[in-house]
Amino acid sequence: MVVLQWRFQWRGLFGNIKAYIIWKFAQALLTFHVLTYNTHMSQSYAIDCLLEPVFWFVDNFAGYLGRVFVFCVSILTSAVVFIAYWVGLPYWWEKSQSVTIALVIFGNWILLNIIFHYYMGVKTSPGYAPHGSLISEAASICKKCISPKPPRTHHCSVCDRCILGMDHHCPWLNNCVGFYNARYFYLYMVYMVMGVTFLIVAGIDLGYQVLWVNDTGGLMSENDPDLIGHPVRMNQSGVLVPVQVIAEYDSVNFPRNHILPTPVITEAQRITANSLKRKAVMFMAMICLSVLFALGALVVMHGKNISRGETSIEAHINDRLRRTHKNKFINPYNFGRKKNWKLFLGLTQGRKLWRHVLLPSSHAPTGTGLTWHTIHNSLEDWP
Ligand SMILES: [Zn+2]
Ligand SMILES: [Zn+2]
Repeated sequence: MVVLQWRFQWRGLFGNIKAYIIWKFAQALLTFHVLTYNTHMSQSYAIDCLLEPVFWFVDNFAGYLGRVFVFCVSILTSAVVFIAYWVGLPYWWEKSQSVTIALVIFGNWILLNIIFHYYMGVKTSPGYAPHGSLISEAASICKKCISPKPPRTHHCSVCDRCILGMDHHCPWLNNCVGFYNARYFYLYMVYMVMGVTFLIVAGIDLGYQVLWVNDTGGLMSENDPDLIGHPVRMNQSGVLVPVQVIAEYDSVNFPRNHILPTPVITEAQRITANSLKRKAVMFMAMICLSVLFALGALVVMHGKNISRGETSIEAHINDRLRRTHKNKFINPYNFGRKKNWKLFLGLTQGRKLWRHVLLPSSHAPTGTGLTWHTIHNSLEDWP
């Protein structure tokens, strides 16, 4: 007779489970490698694949979003200008008429520059690399356009074209910022920051009086919840009220007619009492401060790039090159701070700051955007 005895191997159990998991993991890893391995596989390719849905969204909707953004910028700017005239002008007019005239002239100079540079930034083509022609200076071939790519040119996935001297694609302009419109883009931001700074400086006392002191000078604000149900009326007319039959006044020491103390109502108090104007002041404070911080930071950031003779794209590339080449990297388009700024603003060929930067000017930038002077060129043919 044979007796079968089953014995459970407790000792080897955990070792077996561990070996099984390692084996399954190795299988999964091998499958992943088999599916993803090819000679073009790299980190940036993997990131490109993962970001594909984002690119798809940008490609399909950025055009529409851009138009909505341009509309929003126009509406907000118009609202701010309207409130400045509707609320700010009477306030300053009461203080000093000559100062008001000076403020209106100065403010409109800024406004003119804002409108001009924004319009030109939206409407001016950034400059496109020519299709189907040979460019002797072409640095490479664009994989998406399958055409020569001049130096400093980059492909914009939103515009789906190669952009000369590309800086970035700007949804607020619904346009790429490149060789031909970079100056409009930057000066728009500078004048916008100047504009909101001007409004903040001119309106800081008004904002303080209306939003902080909150004194209506006895004027009743309409829809004041405290006064609902109480039939209170205040004499704001300044008209003398004759006192006739009250016994206390009928003595030699008291005159029969009183001049009631009617306080002078200032414009700030009138604005405080008007709920719509109060809201407008609040709106101005929020808009101006947020634009100041957001655009102020961008002006500083782009200003640094311009000083170094770089576009925003080159700033990223060059930073990486500086790190890998341990500061041996030299940007060939960096002619020194002063010359970089003159080139950027187009202040060459005898152009003047007061005429071509402080006033609207549609002068084209120096050069073609296809070929570029570098620090290695002889500087004799420099404009
Ligand atoms: Zn391209
Ligand atoms: Zn673009």
